[in-house]
Amino acid sequence: MLQTIKKIGVLTSGGDAPGMNAAIRSVVRTCAFHNKKCYGIYRGYEGMIDGDFIEMDARSVKGIINKGGTVLKSARSKAFRTVEGRKKAYEQLRKAGIDAFVVIGGDGSFTGAMVFNKEFNFPVMGIPGTIDNDIFGTTHTLGYDTALNTVVEVVDKIRDTASSHNRLFFIEVMGRDVGHIAVNVGVGAGAEEILIPEEDLGLDRLLESLRRSKASGKSSSIVIVAEGDKIGKNVFELKDYVDENMSEYEVRVSVLGHMQRGGSPSCFDRVLASRMGVKAVESLITGKSNYMVGLKNDIMELTPFDQAVKGKSKINKELLRVSDIMSI
Ligand code: ATP
Repeated sequence: MLQTIKKIGVLTSGGDAPGMNAAIRSVVRTCAFHNKKCYGIYRGYEGMIDGDFIEMDARSVKGIINKGGTVLKSARSKAFRTVEGRKKAYEQLRKAGIDAFVVIGGDGSFTGAMVFNKEFNFPVMGIPGTIDNDIFGTTHTLGYDTALNTVVEVVDKIRDTASSHNRLFFIEVMGRDVGHIAVNVGVGAGAEEILIPEEDLGLDRLLESLRRSKASGKSSSIVIVAEGDKIGKNVFELKDYVDENMSEYEVRVSVLGHMQRGGSPSCFDRVLASRMGVKAVESLITGKSNYMVGLKNDIMELTPFDQAVKGKSKINKELLRVSDIMSI
């Protein structure tokens, strides 16, 4: 028999991403639209264990669609990885009368939700929120588009310096396992070379490419390096190698770091978050559980958590070819 859901919890978990607030807003307002109560759960699974909940109505989420970060705060919870921790969380949810939750986060957060669902048969739904876009089952995760726009703007600025001083810049961007940010920003900002975890270009081919670029009349160069790139141990080692082997350039390194996570979400991320929130709540209400909502061919679709967690998000090879052609 279909369990009637009356109170839905919403939490943000793992690393924050722009668009999380817009997703919280959407979950809260969709609940209000369907006459369901909604509870914000502070500090991810940590707050769930502590019973740190707040009732949220449609007006309580005004003025947050354009804000970066997350008003519910996020956390990584060691306790939720234990059976005792999850049991406490379950007891807190029951005490508050919450009978389903939407978790906005990455694959770790979805794994936690999956385990919880299995142990307590508790309805759960996921919204992918991470700037890396490293989740299977959606072409875009929340925050990814904003991060691309943030990074492209910074690379444009660094290029001003690079071209004024005939410098070669290695710019490290986020992407430990997948190079989505590096590839798109590389094409969007006109980088000479893009180094990503999926492809091991090799140091010799990197030098060859930089020499070719110099010989073709370029006085400055930008190389975008995803943090998980495997050519060198890190971006500074790449600099040392090029310094030793190529005296034509003055080499500089810029590691962009956490600034890539912040800022006001792009229009794309706000729209995506609004759509994902509606889909997540309406799926729970109609009895679905253990899925992640995602965007495929501009349609909202559900992917089972186990597939979303295990599947690989693949880099677009066509973009790599476009980059090669553009950097001739
Ligand atoms: P990001 O992509 O930003 O790292 P994430 O959701 O993958 O986001 P994690 O720190 O991996 O971030 O996971 C968030 C939380 O989910 C963890 O702190 C933990 O509480 C819970 N979690 C992760 N894996 C498990 C697991 N195997 N069992 C129970 N809970 C888990």
